[in-house]
Amino acid sequence: MARAGGRDVLAAYKAKRDFGKTPEPAAKAGRKRGNSFVIQKHAARRTHFDFRLEHDGVLKSWAVTRGPSLDPSQKRLAVMTEDHPLEYGGFEGIIPKGEYGGGPVMIWDEGTWEPIGDPDEGLAKGDLKFRLHGNRLKGDFVLVRMKPRKEDRGRQNWLLIKKRDAYARDGDEPTQDFETSVRSGRSMEQIQSGDVPVWSSKAQKKTPAARAKRATPAKRGRKPAG
Ligand code: MN
Repeated sequence: MARAGGRDVLAAYKAKRDFGKTPEPAAKAGRKRGNSFVIQKHAARRTHFDFRLEHDGVLKSWAVTRGPSLDPSQKRLAVMTEDHPLEYGGFEGIIPKGEYGGGPVMIWDEGTWEPIGDPDEGLAKGDLKFRLHGNRLKGDFVLVRMKPRKEDRGRQNWLLIKKRDAYARDGDEPTQDFETSVRSGRSMEQIQSGDVPVWSSKAQKKTPAARAKRATPAKRGRKPAG
């Protein structure tokens, strides 16, 4: 936590939230160095995709309004938001109405990332190149910071762009292809209604009939009651 000369790197995260009211993880910067990434679909006032890269014990974060694209011709606006604690990457659930960002949050994709070049330089220069190893997103991307304008009022606007590689697909919008949680298989509606997570990425592909069929062999092995 005491990084950057004792400055609390998660001060902005804390200031926006009341941890007595929201189930979001409390702020604690990690000490270990990892390379996880997560994309959370978040139906707040407007639905957007929160794109988070683990770096220096926190999740560097951008809100991508239209979500990531696999089409290199698509430049997706990504507004930089406050650093989030690492634990946030495991958060799927409901931020209560009336709280900051109120609405359901879904873990839409997760995995690891690797910087291409020095990530600190990339972040400072506003030209962060990296490779994703996710379930749904793979391959090379770049985040490019746009020139600040007065009307941005201090907001940092970046663009998230797919690079041309084996994973690039013209016209492919993965956020339309995948509408359920990569972790629990739940839809936004199921998360919103408080459905208990199944915690299986396969669950989304099983129809209720297929699920019942799968349950039968397990039952067969069980001793009759009494
Ligand atoms: Mn958000």
